[in-house]
Amino acid sequence: MLTVNAIAAPSATEPLVRTTIERRDLGPRDILIEIRYAGICHSDIHTVRGEWGEVAYPLTVGHEIVGSVTEVGSEVSRHAVGDRVGVGCMVNSCRECPNCRAGQEQYCENGNTGTYASVDRDGTTTQGGYSTHVVVDEDFVLRVPEAIPYEAAAPLLCAGITTYSPLAHWNAGPGKKVAVVGMGGLGHMAVKIAVAMGAEVTVLSQTLGKKDDGLAFGAENYHATRDAATFEALKNTFDLIINTVSAPIDMAAYLGLLRLDGTLVSVGAPPEPLAVPVFALFGNRRSFAGSGIGSIGETQEMLDFCAERGIAPEVELITADQVNEAYERVLKSDVRYRFVIDIDSLR
Ligand SMILES: [Zn+2]
Ligand SMILES: [Zn+2]
Repeated sequence: MLTVNAIAAPSATEPLVRTTIERRDLGPRDILIEIRYAGICHSDIHTVRGEWGEVAYPLTVGHEIVGSVTEVGSEVSRHAVGDRVGVGCMVNSCRECPNCRAGQEQYCENGNTGTYASVDRDGTTTQGGYSTHVVVDEDFVLRVPEAIPYEAAAPLLCAGITTYSPLAHWNAGPGKKVAVVGMGGLGHMAVKIAVAMGAEVTVLSQTLGKKDDGLAFGAENYHATRDAATFEALKNTFDLIINTVSAPIDMAAYLGLLRLDGTLVSVGAPPEPLAVPVFALFGNRRSFAGSGIGSIGETQEMLDFCAERGIAPEVELITADQVNEAYERVLKSDVRYRFVIDIDSLR
């Protein structure tokens, strides 16, 4: 076992503190990664605070991880010492169910193993990336191209793939009108990726406060959803709407923005069920769908796509001692657009 520095939540209600955690000995297919940067995802906060169900404490979260390979198991073939690599939201799956066999292991029918707060195959609870090292099976480790700035690569592992996957699946591209609801960590990546795919992108945000940023990221239009006229003006407009907001939305109003065969995809999850007026689906043969992260293969495709197109998240770098303060700012949407922890501050 390797004992490593980390930041952990002692309980659902206490601030995160510096501590140490243990990483398993390297198995034949395992990789030891020295972590350099870890992004802060809103899911981290929901999970440590027990808002998405009971978890075991102390708990170290973090599933936007980049670093370098420092040791490999005897059978590892995909990665070598010194490689720049990343780990996202999952670190294992059953590998036998139809979805795993189809290369869609994020939808493993037996449940994929989350990077933190999940029970791993050896019965231990997984611990996330707010730490100096992690041990991960090579099949769940991504190559991070040199063209992506190191610290900016981290948020691609969750915010990047969570938005790339539905944009790719629903064919965002030339001739398609895509709306992105919310301009936070996920939303700003959805805008950049959809623009790079060639779609005409509109941002729908509560206010016009981030309009300059949205247009700088390549959006052609930017509208305030607090203004009821927005929903009147944009009726029957979009082929695809990516909803990144994790609060309830007025489903009838948003579905009304879809043109024939348009789809509204939610990647943000409000804790309460949404009321979907079915008549709004009849009109224009609309669909309402969800999408969860992406497969390992698709995550690699997204990283290579971002490197090729020169796309990277906007990040605010912080030290290990600023994480609790950063959490409060995330909850107030006071971040442009993703906090990333400089893990050197934990060594
Ligand atoms: Zn996340
Ligand atoms: Zn499976």
